[in-house]
Amino acid sequence: MFPTEIPLSDFPILDQSIHGRRLVYLDNAATTQKPMAVLEASRRYYESINSNIHRGTHQLARAATDAYENARQTVAKHLYAESADEVIFTSGTTAGINLVSNILALSGRITAGDEVLISTLEHHSNIVPWQILCQRTGATLKVIPCEEDGSLDQEAFLRLLKGNVKILALTWVSNAFGTVNPVHEMIRAAKSAGALVLIDAAQSSAHLPIDVQSLGADFLAFSGHKIYAPTGIGVLWGRASLLHDLPPWQGGGEMIKEVTFAHTTYNDPPFKYEAGTPNIEGAIALAAAIDYVNNIGIKAIHAHETTLIRAAEKALSLIPGIRFFGPADRSGSLSFLVEGIHHYDLGTLLDQMGVAVRTGHHCCQPLMARFGITGTTRASFALYNTLQDVEALAECTQKAVGMLR
Ligand code: PLP
Repeated sequence: MFPTEIPLSDFPILDQSIHGRRLVYLDNAATTQKPMAVLEASRRYYESINSNIHRGTHQLARAATDAYENARQTVAKHLYAESADEVIFTSGTTAGINLVSNILALSGRITAGDEVLISTLEHHSNIVPWQILCQRTGATLKVIPCEEDGSLDQEAFLRLLKGNVKILALTWVSNAFGTVNPVHEMIRAAKSAGALVLIDAAQSSAHLPIDVQSLGADFLAFSGHKIYAPTGIGVLWGRASLLHDLPPWQGGGEMIKEVTFAHTTYNDPPFKYEAGTPNIEGAIALAAAIDYVNNIGIKAIHAHETTLIRAAEKALSLIPGIRFFGPADRSGSLSFLVEGIHHYDLGTLLDQMGVAVRTGHHCCQPLMARFGITGTTRASFALYNTLQDVEALAECTQKAVGMLR
């Protein structure tokens, strides 16, 4: 399939000019483009079976329910979950993390004197929900420090685990630097210390195979739109026994067994955590995206993207004054700064040349503060990118730097 065999017709949005130049889309860590298979799955849903799910007796309601529940099975299989009941559809990673932080607070499992452990690499989505939990419960937020190369300080991590850590909430892959955390080892250490573990898989889902059973975490969240599915759909995987024991967060239709004005009994997981009409089409399209990825093979995708990132680093390193962030074996993203040039100016000029990259703090302000910077320029890669895209990135960056100096 690689390096050039992904037909452009699979991703019609890429077949266009921006400011008169071929579009080179390298903002995949923010969101990925959608293949025809996904667009068609959404369209087919609305053209043929659109209906509300679970309660209807008519044919369309049954067909939509089957398609939605089949999508849950596809996700469960993809994650190697023990059961589809462990798969909760959410609106995205942020929603999944907020769900977990809220049910932990409501359950009384985290109280005053407890500690919540996150890392310097986290996206704001895996910082702020825990700050809110700490404000509510009187728990303390602790942070694993980051080394100069953009990896986490593992000795400090083990020291921090000797405290009263109730949950470790950790990103697998850094969206800002592409750092791949040694999650298997870190989960093992946290579990031995008696902590729960939530993995933010927003940046790993499109690049690395995920096997929740071998990972050994308790929760894992990701967003559909970062793995070629639409926005507004995501997944929270949770360990069955925990989902069973923890209380619901949002109340409404779907999450109940029986309601009286005096008392309500709750549905079983995953429905207990899916109050209200869900994003039915989104779940179906997510399953189509997962099938698309698995048809190519996630390991092949990772190998292809690694080739591109290494080629990009090599080509860009010819620019005097360039500084890369994150360790050499990064995944998905390549972040850099050029001495004397503001990342925003560089990004703006690259856009004029048809190259879409992201500039700024990447929703990681504490990480930027750790490195004494306000942001970086980030090129992030997907399965449809090519060595031609890498050449365009390097040539246009050279040119833009020449114009800005
Ligand atoms: N976590 C990481 C590592 C991310 O990169 C992102 C988005 O960029 C998020 C969480 C939040 O994802 P979403 O906005 O889709 O909820």
